[in-house]
Amino acid sequence: AAGVLANARLHAQVEEEARVDVLTGLLNRRSFDRRLAAEHRRAGRFSKPYALALLDIDHFKRVNDGYGHPAGDAVLAQLGQILARQFREVDVVARYGGEEFAIILPEIGGHTARDVAERVRRAVAATPFALPDGREIGVTISIGVSCYPDSAASPEAVVRTADQALYTAKQAGRNRVM
Ligand code: GH3
Ligand code: MG
Ligand code: MG
Repeated sequence: AAGVLANARLHAQVEEEARVDVLTGLLNRRSFDRRLAAEHRRAGRFSKPYALALLDIDHFKRVNDGYGHPAGDAVLAQLGQILARQFREVDVVARYGGEEFAIILPEIGGHTARDVAERVRRAVAATPFALPDGREIGVTISIGVSCYPDSAASPEAVVRTADQALYTAKQAGRNRVM
């Protein structure tokens, strides 16, 4: 019986690990892709909009180079907490890549999504991030926002346009929403 129980626990653990990013506790990329496909189908069926925000830390290499990789990891974990707090319960917050995050905002149009993203950008810029050695640093983020159906017609195109907006935000000087 103990063996069966241990096996069940291991199974649950493996399942959770496949869904969640260990460092931030947010959904991982795979889960995100599944959720985006589901949200896209739902939005199409009920003629509702949704928005997507892609978020990238500004000059994150400098954090790693200046304070070390564990300090970079600490920043990522704290940013994950801020994002989990800032968005609504219905929003899908995921770690999209190394220092990139993606958020699905169901039933929200582009203008509202931009306002939400702007509020998050300010919150991050105003937050001191604690490093493992006790020091604190400031971190900024750039965000690209896109929405269905106004910006794009497919989930892939929604991601692509958000990524283009993010690129434009970086080009324009970072620490901004496009
Ligand atoms: P930009 O403002 O243009 O985004 O500059 P950047 O330095 O943030 O951009 P770039 O994408 O070139 O660098 C991202 C860095 O993020 C490189 C990589 O070492 C670091 N990184 C990615 N994943 C992790 C991680 O899990 N932990 C840590 N500590 N660093 C990571
Ligand atoms: Mg990046
Ligand atoms: Mg970056």
